[in-house]
Amino acid sequence: MDNTEILRFEGVKKHFPITKGVIFSRQAGQVHAVDGIDLALAHGQTLALVGESGCGKTTTARLALRLETPTDGRVMVDGEDVHQLQGAALKRYRTRVQAVFQDPWSSLNPRMRVRDIVAETLRVNFSLSRSEIEQRVAKVLLDVGLKPEQALNYPHEFSGGQRQRVAIASALISNPKMLILDEPVSALDVSIRSQIMNLLQDLQQQYGMTYLLVAHDLGTTRYMADWLAVMYLGRIVEYATVDSLFKEPRNPYTKALFSAALPDHPDKRREEIILTGEVPSPIDPPSGCSFHPRCPLKAGSICEQVEPKLKLAPGTKNHLVACHLY
Ligand code: SF4
Repeated sequence: MDNTEILRFEGVKKHFPITKGVIFSRQAGQVHAVDGIDLALAHGQTLALVGESGCGKTTTARLALRLETPTDGRVMVDGEDVHQLQGAALKRYRTRVQAVFQDPWSSLNPRMRVRDIVAETLRVNFSLSRSEIEQRVAKVLLDVGLKPEQALNYPHEFSGGQRQRVAIASALISNPKMLILDEPVSALDVSIRSQIMNLLQDLQQQYGMTYLLVAHDLGTTRYMADWLAVMYLGRIVEYATVDSLFKEPRNPYTKALFSAALPDHPDKRREEIILTGEVPSPIDPPSGCSFHPRCPLKAGSICEQVEPKLKLAPGTKNHLVACHLY
């Protein structure tokens, strides 16, 4: 392992079985939610997973959080296979890796005071006195832009943006090294999205954290991420720095995805590429390149027969693309 690396996915697959029948249930197929991905992320960086809904980005994040177990492959954090952790090593992982989800309503217990919500990870994993916990809660509330006295309030007494600040505070309380951010601003009013994105960026510096970001909005990823991984039907089809990907997307699917997004300047005109056909079912994905039934630039029969691997795009140092055109 490179000692600057915090997260690594090695050939990770997650297939969900589909069963039929009530009394004599039998497996009738598999959903290929994540279908063999390799990723690496260095300390202090932000990697965003992008793609249409159902592409596997949320399942990928859930695998890093141990909320799903891989069907194949390994997810490594700081050189340890997170699905093999036990005892003290598992406890350490649970304090070092935390998550912030899309909807602060569902992630905050409405019957608990903010003080108790935020302190929960500390109580479960550390032996601290009451005053030490109170001091730590007051500090993280200040860090996320709330007042320490708001610790006594309940979630319903906060606005949507403030509730997301509470969710961020409860993720920060254990001083984590990595945050998994699953659509952290998409449920918020447009007017406060940038405040929360700025806050997350400031906290990343202050706490020295690494972010794995799941977002369908390309504007959010462009603003927050260093690296982008574009996913289609459970596979990574392009992986590069944000600058390189926005400047010149290579994979035909990425080109279509980016062409539908707003340009960064109104004077810039971008021709929208309209994809025909539906996203194929992940139960029985197409052979070869799974994008071939919809690809406007298909390179020939090889696209139907051979799965393209991620390779360095010509003339680049770290821009990977999976496509037979390259
Ligand atoms: Fe299109 Fe073929 Fe490239 Fe797939 S491999 S994106 S079908 S050109």
